[in-house]
Amino acid sequence: MIISDILQSGLDEEALCIQLNEVLEKNQIDAIIGIGPVLSRHPHLFAIKSTFYTSTEHFVQQVDVQEFRDETILIKGARTFGFERISNLLAEKIHRTVLEINLDALIHNLNFYRSRINDNVRLMVMVKAAAYGNGSAEIASLLQFNRVDYLAVAYADEGVELRKHGITVPIMVMNVAYQSFGNLVKYNLEPEVYSLAQLDRLISFASTEAKPIKIHVKIDSGMHRLGFEAHEIDALTNLLCASPVVEVASIYSHLAGADEDKHNEFSHTQVQRFLSMADRIQVALGTRPLRHILNSAGILRFPDYQLDMVRLGIGLYGFEANQQAQGELRAVSTLKTVISQIKNIRRGETIGYGRMGLAIHDMQIATIAIGYADGFSRAFSNGKISPMANGQPAPVIGNICMDMCMLDVTGLDVREGDEVIIFGEEPGIKQLADAIGTIPYEILTGISSRVSRVFYTS
Ligand SMILES: *Cc1c(COP(=O)(O)O)cnc(C)c1O
Repeated sequence: MIISDILQSGLDEEALCIQLNEVLEKNQIDAIIGIGPVLSRHPHLFAIKSTFYTSTEHFVQQVDVQEFRDETILIKGARTFGFERISNLLAEKIHRTVLEINLDALIHNLNFYRSRINDNVRLMVMVKAAAYGNGSAEIASLLQFNRVDYLAVAYADEGVELRKHGITVPIMVMNVAYQSFGNLVKYNLEPEVYSLAQLDRLISFASTEAKPIKIHVKIDSGMHRLGFEAHEIDALTNLLCASPVVEVASIYSHLAGADEDKHNEFSHTQVQRFLSMADRIQVALGTRPLRHILNSAGILRFPDYQLDMVRLGIGLYGFEANQQAQGELRAVSTLKTVISQIKNIRRGETIGYGRMGLAIHDMQIATIAIGYADGFSRAFSNGKISPMANGQPAPVIGNICMDMCMLDVTGLDVREGDEVIIFGEEPGIKQLADAIGTIPYEILTGISSRVSRVFYTS
């Protein structure tokens, strides 16, 4: 933990340091860096590993950021200490490309959807694919704190990861391989069941367990991905009725075109098919499991079908697929990097692999520290998008390389070390997606794991 003097605590210096030391020990902080004259005067009052600097300036000059490796650092300082200099310094160290996640914006979006959900309808949040690329454990903790009813992930290991990070909210897992059945029980995860063969194997497994396994029955109402079809419902209910070792927690389905007007009629058909199959299951079981079918777009466009629960996904991260309520949402993620080098290029020279970037006039270019291995797709090559270099749009020139790419910064006010925004408020993720014919989901989930995630509240 990097911490500054605590101003206006009302305690004398020694009492303050003693109390601080207690809090640090109790919370199992491994080491502190104390900054400010007060902390520096009392190093002997700290029992844990500690170093002190009289000012932020002093720290920034003396520290070798290379010393920080595989560490989680909590930075907490009074405003006057200007600790953003420290977070910038550390962020630069971590290969200088970061995905910043604005947690206030995320909560704003959560509350927006909550305001559109009818009373007594539960909320499941989809945190699959590392919470759409934003970082599963961190986002899940925040959602748990904000009392969502359910979380859902695609694979069992994603669920295990959440449990290891102290997530206790019920978790549905959509695609469970036989090999992970053991983990379902060990980590209290609730599988989706989508076929008779899979249910059979789960039942054999569950029969040796002490407690029934909660399952979520997936209905294929027209998406044709996973799920039971109408002709399988009798076999399904027979199996379920004969097997008290599994307990149906919910019955659900997924809409194939919830976000587009042109599919409205099909969406209504899907809902009707779903309800009729769910009814048959409920009647046969004599219980009333939760029923749910709406994703983010559906929540806004089909409020009559919210049923017992809805499944919020992309909306939480700031996109409204149908665009009708886009203005109500805030951008959550900003992908940033820096300019590594600036060069002057003569007319007629070429830039990058395949010599695809041609200087049609004398040109100034900036090489930035992000490439397709970070998730900045090679499809953005040759001017498909203009990241913001020190606040000014600068088109990609030439082909994007694995770890770097070049921007045309001719005539712009830029220097080496300046910040470059790949996406954020401007350009937005939607704009990137449109530029290469994909969807925001793919842009977000494509940011690779070597890009550090930095979470902040404003
Ligand atoms: C991903 C997913 C969702 C969430 O969809 P969004 O469009 O992101 O809201 C809902 N249900 C299922 C089954 C999903 O796989």
